[in-house]
Amino acid sequence: MKVVSVEAIPVAYPEPNDFDATRYLCLVKITTDDGVVGWGEAITQFPEANPAVAALIAGMAEFVIGRSPVDTEAVWRALKDRAWWYGYGGGLASNAIAAIDIALWDIKGQALGASVCELLGGPVHERLPAIASSHAHHESIPAMADEALGWLSTGLQGMKVGFGKRGDARLGYEHGRDVEYVQAMREALGPDRMLMIDLGIAIKWDVTTAVRRVQAFDDYAVDWVEEPLGAWDPEGYATLRAKTVTRMAYGEKEWTLQGYERVLATGTCDVVGVDPGRAEGITGFKRVTDRVESYGRQANAHAWSSAIVSAASLAVSFSTPACKVFEFKPLRNPMQHDLVADPVAHVDGWVYPPTTKPGLGIEIDEAVIDRYRQ
Ligand SMILES: [Mg+2]
Repeated sequence: MKVVSVEAIPVAYPEPNDFDATRYLCLVKITTDDGVVGWGEAITQFPEANPAVAALIAGMAEFVIGRSPVDTEAVWRALKDRAWWYGYGGGLASNAIAAIDIALWDIKGQALGASVCELLGGPVHERLPAIASSHAHHESIPAMADEALGWLSTGLQGMKVGFGKRGDARLGYEHGRDVEYVQAMREALGPDRMLMIDLGIAIKWDVTTAVRRVQAFDDYAVDWVEEPLGAWDPEGYATLRAKTVTRMAYGEKEWTLQGYERVLATGTCDVVGVDPGRAEGITGFKRVTDRVESYGRQANAHAWSSAIVSAASLAVSFSTPACKVFEFKPLRNPMQHDLVADPVAHVDGWVYPPTTKPGLGIEIDEAVIDRYRQ
């Protein structure tokens, strides 16, 4: 079996979980001479990144066409070597490698009659707790707490909330309002459900602001605070971590294993975010989780785009003890619920090993892709 075509498909779609903002992904369809099709995804996020990643994928195609789709490691290394000049340290080259790698694993599973999770060695968890991963939009704090309870009524075991997002929530900007929100959410959720706070790019806390805010959150058993000082501030994170007890989460903006090694070596990151549609695919994500495990930290999939990245994330999450929860966007959305016939779902707040279907186990509806194709 050999790869005969690599097609980059940039899409733009409305995301109900992001106040209906238009979001961008570069999907990849890889086809073999046997007619087997695999799907991959780069989470490009912005309009200018989409054609750039599509062009990189088109250029990289010559290192994939003619290869056996089973050779995921060899192809991944060939693509890394190809990108030696423009991809050193990461960047959009890592997005392109991610998309191709995920699609090849999908084909490899179909060719070998095994799920990606099984190809990675099989599930090490019986099940994983599922949580909602949302953005706060409403002005009224009680309304946001009520909305959260509605989502959690499906059994979801907790909630991660994005601050500094679109809409009227104004969270992340004022100490009093933030603490009032966290207190209201903890009261609504009760003592046992998880609550995580995720600071968006709009929030620019300095170290003293972060210390004061997270010390206040400490009283409400917040499970982790994500990116309170952004993607990289080792001294600031060391100070923050020394003065608070809530776990620190960051890392989702890293592209490569070397970037993750740098984060882990600081000793300040308790929960390491990884997006396989960014950090060089299933091959890249798996390498990172191995290192996170050896540091005794938690890894967490940043799976907030299409059903393709969700399927890839789920396969890796089940293959490693480093991953301990799985996030779901709470509102129905086209790239999760329309794109595939059988979207990843939780059952009473639990998600189970994706081992019943070969490859990524997803069946893509190409009419949906055509609807959002750029
Ligand atoms: Mg985040």
